[in-house]
Amino acid sequence: MAEQRGDGRGTGDVRGGGQDAGESRRRGVRPEEARAWEELVATARRTVSDGLVVGTSGNVSVRVGDTVLVTPSGVPYDRLRTDDVTGVDLDGRQVLGALVPTSELPMHLAVYRTTGARAVVHTHAVHATAVSTLVSELPLIHYMAAALGGPVRVAPYATYGTDELAENMLRALADRSGCLLQNHGTITHGTTLDQAYDRTAQLEWMCRLWLTAASVPGLSPSLLSGEQLAEVQEQLRGYGQRR
Ligand code: 13P
Ligand code: ZN
Repeated sequence: MAEQRGDGRGTGDVRGGGQDAGESRRRGVRPEEARAWEELVATARRTVSDGLVVGTSGNVSVRVGDTVLVTPSGVPYDRLRTDDVTGVDLDGRQVLGALVPTSELPMHLAVYRTTGARAVVHTHAVHATAVSTLVSELPLIHYMAAALGGPVRVAPYATYGTDELAENMLRALADRSGCLLQNHGTITHGTTLDQAYDRTAQLEWMCRLWLTAASVPGLSPSLLSGEQLAEVQEQLRGYGQRR
């Protein structure tokens, strides 16, 4: 098992109900949750190996029924083991595991409560975070914005882990599957961990593209119109292989 935190927050109920109250709510891990946990850990490790996250920044979650499996707070992903499964219900009460869940539960739960998402990925990807400090919306530099539902907004800054940050994020996410968090990072969701992860990678790539093009002295990048993007949005419905 990964080491437990030594920050005094304890390993019990995240709502502060105390360890005994918290422990009594814990239950056994179901087979589908065990499988989802392995996928979650693999996705979390990928955010590090692909350079989207440094250290224990960022977090990942996946919904299985009405349980949300989440990365524990402040634990390096390479230390996570099979028996570290950490899960909460949709109200944030811990139902699985002894490690303290991610501090960003308010953001993850807000997404599950308001969308049909099954997976959420949050990172501090460097180009995306840089863009979040410069603009309130990522300029339409590439048609892949359509894959995120339209122009990507930046949620105004609020302290990490707060309900205020979750509220700002929800507004920026309206009709989108991803947004930037000002001076903080990215958040994307999807119907699978792979899809949520891929959206983060595309978002980081688009931010890098805009920064690269916008930094050429004396020139400014051409941008797409809303109409051009809407056309792509329609076309993307039929993208890829027929099933
Ligand atoms: P956790 O380690 O608590 O998940 O926090 C990381 C983070 O990115 C906070 O915004
Ligand atoms: Zn963060």
